[in-house]
Order: sequence, then C-alpha cells, then structure tokens
Amino acid sequence: MQRLACGHGPSIVPPTPEATPYPMRLLALLSLLALTALSAAEDKVVIWKLDDVRAGEKKRLAPGFKRVAAWAKAEKTVVTMGVICDSLAQPNAEDVAWIKTNAVENGGVVEFWHHGWDHRSWTDAGKAMAEFRGPDVATQAKHLQDAQAIFKQTTGLTFRAFGAPFNQADDATIAAMDAVPELTIWMYPPKNETKRKALGRTLNIEVATGKVSFDKFAKDYAARKPTSMMLLQGHCGMWNDDSFHDFVKIAALLKQDGWTTLTASQYVEKTGKK
Ligand SMILES: [Zn+2]
Repeated sequence: MQRLACGHGPSIVPPTPEATPYPMRLLALLSLLALTALSAAEDKVVIWKLDDVRAGEKKRLAPGFKRVAAWAKAEKTVVTMGVICDSLAQPNAEDVAWIKTNAVENGGVVEFWHHGWDHRSWTDAGKAMAEFRGPDVATQAKHLQDAQAIFKQTTGLTFRAFGAPFNQADDATIAAMDAVPELTIWMYPPKNETKRKALGRTLNIEVATGKVSFDKFAKDYAARKPTSMMLLQGHCGMWNDDSFHDFVKIAALLKQDGWTTLTASQYVEKTGKK
C-alpha cells in the first residue's frame, strides 16, 4: 500500500510504519462489508407461484399461462406454475405438449408443481372443507398420489413442490405428504410442517384473486423492505391486460432492485449448498 503525497516532493512516498495497520484494517472492513452484501444479495430471491394450470379436454390451458411463459422466455427468467391434475384424466394433447416444451427439465422456463387433484371446496354440516382440509389422511394421500402419478404418466415429469388449493391444509395433509416422498418442497405450508422445505408467504402481488396491483405492491415493498426470499402468488390464467402489465412492472422493479428470480427447486438446491 502506498499513499499519495500532497504538495511538493515525490508524488508517491512509502508508508510510514505506524500507518501500515490502517490500510489492513480498512481492507478487513471492506472484505466484511463485501461478504455481508453478498450474503444479502444471495437471499434476494423471488419465486413466481402461478396457480391453476389445467390441461384437459374439458378445461383447457388458459391463454394467460402462455403469455407469462412467453414473457419469461423473452426475459430469460423463470416462473413456476401449479397444475390441477384431474384435468389430465382426459388430457388435451396440445396443452400437454405445451407443458412438456415449457418445463425447465426440457430446457424451458417453467417449473410445474403439484396443486392437488380436483381443487374442490365444499361445506359439510356447516363446516368449511377443502381438498386438503378436513378429509382423512388416506383420502388426502390418494389425491396426492393420483395427481403425482397422472402428471408423470402424461408428461414424463416429476413434481418436486406442492401447494394446496386455497393454501388450505391441515395435520392430515402433513401426514399424507409422506405418501409422495418426491415432494420435498411445500409452498405456503401450515405452520407446524417440518419435514419438507417450507416456502412461506411475505408480500402479495394480487389485491384480489386474479387482480394484480403494481401500486399496492410497490407501497408494501417500500414499507416492508424485504431482503429475503419472496414467493409471490398470482393467478395468471385470470389476468386481464392491466394485471399482466402490472405483473411485468413488478418484475422489472424487483430486477432493478437486485432480486434474482429462481424456480422453487433451484432456490432450494442453491440454499441447500450454502
Ligand atoms: Zn388454486
């Protein structure tokens, strides 16, 4: 280390002995700051959780999924999409081909995840029930297994992540999940889930199901100043042009602010290696 001399004389002078520790301390401090910034940057990961893909003869793939996947491809980024699997009992060949082509496993930009078998909710003797809230362990396990199996059979792909319809799940779901050990990631799980990698909820991009608001998100983002992984949920099959464009603006805001976009599996793989 050399110090620049001011005024006259040689432009560069050797450091005085007592000056030596200072640059070293400075160097140590700078290294520490750089490391801190690096670890903070590593946690600034956004994962897009897009719900409700259907790919059957009765319920076809909504155009909104194609629009978001095309955007992700153009942006060289990735998204995740949850599949409601009973739609595959009578699969539509074109929609299934789209899933295969767009899957990250096949070089595409989408990680598909398990979003249940039928996505049902109903009332039983005044009690609110859902596919994964209320039914016994065996019933829930069958739904998990049937969905995993039919997705593999029709697309050749394996779900690694699960997210319950309506984000409603109970203790029976936690037990039933053991029936599909390939599911190692749970999006928005119940609080007492401990066996799978839990990816929780922070901010929201939708103000109502299927309606994105950039203004609301930007306000919440500025107030909360998140610095760790955000799993952001949307229903792009329902988005109108305004919602799609607000989503694009949110993605641009996060990119500008140093956020990296990953799929759920990519994120878990990356954090597991830390
Ligand atoms: Zn859903």
